[in-house]
Order: sequence, then structure tokens, then C-alpha cells
Amino acid sequence: MAGSGQSRYYRSYSLGSHLINRTQGIRGLVNYGFSCCVNALLQSFCATWELVDILDKWNPLHVENKNRNVPLQLKEVFKAMQSDHSQPVSHHDFLKCLDKNRIRLYVQHDADEVFLLILNFLQRQMDEDTLVQAILSLYKVSLETVLHCRDCTYIQSYTSFLLSLPLHIKEDHNSLEDCIKSFFEPEVLRDTEKCYCEQCGMKTCATRGFKIISLPPILCLHLKRFRSYHDYTKKLQCKVTFPETFDFLEIVKEETLSQKYVTNGSKYSLCAVIVHIGIARFGHYTAYVHHKGDQSWYYANDSSVRKVCWSDVQSSYGGDGREKTAYMLLYRRDTQEQQFDGTETL
Ligand SMILES: [Zn+2]
Repeated sequence: MAGSGQSRYYRSYSLGSHLINRTQGIRGLVNYGFSCCVNALLQSFCATWELVDILDKWNPLHVENKNRNVPLQLKEVFKAMQSDHSQPVSHHDFLKCLDKNRIRLYVQHDADEVFLLILNFLQRQMDEDTLVQAILSLYKVSLETVLHCRDCTYIQSYTSFLLSLPLHIKEDHNSLEDCIKSFFEPEVLRDTEKCYCEQCGMKTCATRGFKIISLPPILCLHLKRFRSYHDYTKKLQCKVTFPETFDFLEIVKEETLSQKYVTNGSKYSLCAVIVHIGIARFGHYTAYVHHKGDQSWYYANDSSVRKVCWSDVQSSYGGDGREKTAYMLLYRRDTQEQQFDGTETL
């Protein structure tokens, strides 16, 4: 699973504590048979200190089956990941806990699916609603879906939210900015996708568009690199460039904002990248995380962690036959801007 590239990286097992000390608190995670997907996600969750803080506040009085409780086990892993220790984290209990919740050990998983499943377990297995809502608010992109009947021009709209924004990519060169733009372009729903129109009283052809109600503190973008055909799935290895910082409102048109749009900042900085190396059938997950402590980038490949620079992160754009590609991007909203906006509205 780890692939032949593993030897290029530092092995924290053999190098001992001096390497860990140099990495200032970023700890690797042992790979227990195909756990690279969960490992990469854990690195990105742990880099989301807002989530770590929320789980820290959760002190349940009574949990029926501790071994099956994902939030409780996740709390334990976060503690271990933040402690200063010379060995990579052994998180077998957490993986066993996921296994009991049907995220099986020794199976290759899809990182976006597991990301959403873990957030779902946190919602279902935590008994404090305010903390559950705080976790959801962290990732929630609130959207207004507008359906425009093409037979009678009747317009219907409803609100919903996504915890990760699925972005379609083209088979040639892409930029994240273009992928975001195309997500918000209206799309015609025909044939099996027809929608029920209240005015026509039947399913009709409709144009569907999304409008933004609010943007989250942590924006998760999923680059849809796996495409299913009749009997096989192909991974798109094409180049998708992405910036270290961007302003969401400079990408989308003004008409993409809902009338209910809540202004609370739109400037984002990249904080983690989940990388997929390989092909659809067989691959390996790693992660780039931006460390709060020294404001540097680190590359986490299971048990090994090394400090890298931004150009290293950019090596996951893909293209030119490379199989190392960014698969999920996590951006953090600029808090200074939030404060600035808050002051302005006072
Ligand atoms: Zn209609």
C-alpha cells in the first residue's frame, strides 16, 4: 500500500526522537493495513484546531460503549497526536472503533466518504447538541438551490448545506478557481433528473443553480478525480492548480450570492491537502498540513513526517503523468478579515 516512494521519506521509527523534536508536535501515525486514508484525514482533522478544541470541551458523563464511540476515540487520538513522544501514534483502538462502525480495517477507502462519515458519527454519537452544532457550523456551506421550470418558468427554491463542496474537474488542465466557478453555473436537468414542478403538476425539465447563503470557517473542497463508467472507475490524473490563499467572492459572480447571504468573510488560506497517490484501483493517501506553531508546511506519510515548502505542496497539482494528486483541500477563513468585517458593521 505504501508504494515504492516510501523510502524517499524519513522514517521516524528508525531516526528516533530528534526527528520528532524537529517536527514540533506533528506526529506520524502507524499504518495498520490500509489505514493511510484515515491517517491522512486524522492529520487534517488535527490541523483543524477548532475541531480539536470543540472535542476537548466534550466531557460526557456516561458513554455506553466507549470502544464503539467515534468522538470519544477521536478525542484520545488527538491527545496522543499532540503529545511529545518519540514514536508515531499507535491508534489501533480508533481504527477498531471505526471498524465497529462499518469503516472496515484492511479495506481501501475513499477519503471524502470517510471524512463525511466521521463527521456524521460525531453528530450521532455526541450527546451535547451545542457542540454538535459547533462542529457542523465549522464546515457548513449553506446553499440556496433554485429550480427554474423550463416549461412554465415557475421558480422554486430550497435551502440545504454541504460539509464538503464536490467539484467536477475536466480531463485537461483545471484551476481550482474554474472548478468553483463551474459548480455555481446553472445546469439543465433532463430525462431521469427531471424535477416536480408545482405549477405544471408533473416532472419537467428544469435549470438548477446554487446560490451561497453562507461560507464556513473551514472550507472543504473535494476534487472529484474518480469517475465511474459502466464497469470501471477511472482516476483523472490531470493538473488542478490551487492557490495558497484566495478570496471566494473574487471567484464567483455577484448573482451567485443569495439574498439571504451572510457576510462573515470570504478570504481563505490553505491549511491541509489530502493527497491520493496511484490509480483508482490501488493507491496511497498522504497529507500536507500547515502547522499553527511554526506556520510551516509538513508532509505526513503515515509514520513519517517532514517539513516541506509551498513548492512541495504544489507538486500535488498532478498532470504530466504524475500520479500524486491533491484530492481534498481544506481552507481556513481569514480571522483578521472576520474581525475587520465585524468592526465595519458596528
Ligand atoms: Zn412548470
